[in-house]
Amino acid sequence: MKIVLLGAPGSGKGTVAEKLEKDFNLKHLSAGELLREEIKKDTTIGRDIKEIIEKGNLVPNQFVVEIIKLEVKGKDNYILDGFPRSLKQAEAIDDLGIDLVVYLEVPEEVVVERLSGRRVCETGEHGYHIKYVPPRKEGICNQDGTKLIRRKDDNPEVVKERFRVYYNTTAPLVKYYKEKGILKTVDGTPNPEKVYEAVKKVVEENK
Ligand code: AMP
Repeated sequence: MKIVLLGAPGSGKGTVAEKLEKDFNLKHLSAGELLREEIKKDTTIGRDIKEIIEKGNLVPNQFVVEIIKLEVKGKDNYILDGFPRSLKQAEAIDDLGIDLVVYLEVPEEVVVERLSGRRVCETGEHGYHIKYVPPRKEGICNQDGTKLIRRKDDNPEVVKERFRVYYNTTAPLVKYYKEKGILKTVDGTPNPEKVYEAVKKVVEENK
């Protein structure tokens, strides 16, 4: 099964994807995470990407599309988290045959609060929230024991830009996938367990 998770920054895509990966044996492919891995390699491209991400802008299509296409090659079961983020990107993967797009709908004031308290572990793989999803030991990842940090692009100034980009460039994808008849909207406002319950139901109904 091929799933796309759509939603504003902080709508819970990563949290939902982590759970879907375990329950449905789907590979979680996070575009942001793949880009951050490229940054860690400290290549020329990696340094350019770092600058773009830290400003809250989108990394050029040709680069992101290439990374995603390489990752999905030969795979039939995956979740795309944070990709596509524009109509151009969506068109570029029309040939993959996406089965289901889950749109996590959350009001802006809720996601802004979530982003301000969001923390990730140093590996970037596990996400927390200081109030809503606290780790067992303050500042330490439950799963791998690394320190929890705040992503630079979760700083309020950058968050503003990320929202501008989201509304202008990514939000039109809701209509795009609705017209294709594969979009399911889930209310992403409740707590993570409730949201996941609803997403799981949608995935099971569309298997
Ligand atoms: P995320 O981890 O999904 O919040 O993504 C973090 C940042 O990575 C975004 O704000 C963008 O700068 C960049 N990024 C992630 N996905 C994409 C994409 N599909 N296209 C372009 N840039 C992206």
